[in-house]
Amino acid sequence: MKQTTEEIYASQLDNQDPLAKFRDQFIIADPDLIYLDGNSLGRLPKVTIPHLQNLIEEEWGKGLIEGWNKGWFEMPTRLGSRIARLIGARDDEVVVCDTTSVNLFKLAAAALKYQAGKKVLVSDEFNFPTDLYVFQGVIDILNAGHQLDLIRSEDSISFSEESINKTITENTALVALTQVAFKSAFMYDIQKVTKLAHQKGALTMWDLSHSVGAVPLKLNDWDVDLAVGCTYKYLNGGPGSPAFLFVRKELQNELFPPIWGWFADQAPFAFNLDFSPADGISRYQISTPHILSMAGIEPALEILLEAGTDQLREKSVKQTDYLIYLAQQLLLPLGFEVGSPLDSSRRGSHVSLRHPEAYRICRALIDPQPEDTTLKVIPDFRAPNNIRLGIAPLYTSFVDIHRALKRLQTIVEDGIYQNYSKKQLKVT
Ligand SMILES: *Cc1c(COP(=O)(O)O)cnc(C)c1O
Repeated sequence: MKQTTEEIYASQLDNQDPLAKFRDQFIIADPDLIYLDGNSLGRLPKVTIPHLQNLIEEEWGKGLIEGWNKGWFEMPTRLGSRIARLIGARDDEVVVCDTTSVNLFKLAAAALKYQAGKKVLVSDEFNFPTDLYVFQGVIDILNAGHQLDLIRSEDSISFSEESINKTITENTALVALTQVAFKSAFMYDIQKVTKLAHQKGALTMWDLSHSVGAVPLKLNDWDVDLAVGCTYKYLNGGPGSPAFLFVRKELQNELFPPIWGWFADQAPFAFNLDFSPADGISRYQISTPHILSMAGIEPALEILLEAGTDQLREKSVKQTDYLIYLAQQLLLPLGFEVGSPLDSSRRGSHVSLRHPEAYRICRALIDPQPEDTTLKVIPDFRAPNNIRLGIAPLYTSFVDIHRALKRLQTIVEDGIYQNYSKKQLKVT
């Protein structure tokens, strides 16, 4: 089958796609809306609706406080053990709690304290702002002379091995990186960087927010120490669903997270006056779990586990390759650049296209004039010039990608973006 820029080729790829059937498990309310933002907020799985309805009406409405003894109390560790399957960890190494930012704070503070004597926290200049802000805040509150060193990029897309190697030194206490960069989609080789960090005596913490659910992960095989991640992106847990954290078994009773809440205690319901940290992963919780926002994660995870991360990755690579092929054929002549690695082994599941008019092009995709088209495409804009197209292999089709790229071509070729304001909205 010869690769072409025709829609019929995209349809053929969909017909051959072994995961195509999963799309039907999600609410697709508008067939003319192409959603390429599953890496910011995943779609709603159909099964989540009755699942949450039952939780509210039966468990909360009728069962009231008994719910805590009928599964709510264990929900953080029960979901943690399911997420462990997705990330290659043992069942008792993951817990769902708090937000990604809060978990970054807890683990970074614990790791820096544990590594007393080493004063450098290494991260990179593509990291998500919350990660960097949290690290700056941890350093501030510890007040122990730590500094943050950032790995720098030479091409604004990726990091060279040389740049990584020279930033991690014998003084590094913690290497805290996001595996897949939120703008360029550059993807680290976790195993390689973790090995290098360990050789220098550093611990590693990986933020998996942009990889979990799209990239196969083997945290145990790769010897990872700590990790955190989102559940509302590729895991489809729902807006603001709680995050997860991973602590390698051997470290669980060695580190002390800085917030001593009652759910981190050995016996929360003994109501003792003095804190005694729980053994194991429970130590890393703080307080009463957010049952309603956590509950949506459970049915959504089952869909991912059924599809399988290797299969999801295989499809995601095909789709990002196809997207880049179309961009090269249709969009590069119009002033676009590919802002993501061309080598799929170093790329996550989204692709950034750069254009000087990226903001107005995004507005034209999202908010078309009715006389022009009914086709709405949802990407997201990431300053200063990235149009980020996220591929969620569970439900993104090849035809979605084709229609989105053709629409991008029309918007620029016909100058449609010029009808939109340059003034930026609050959430982009
Ligand atoms: C989405 C994302 C976050 C989000 O953090 P919250 O605390 O949930 O707001 C953090 N880090 C990375 C790398 C992300 O992609």
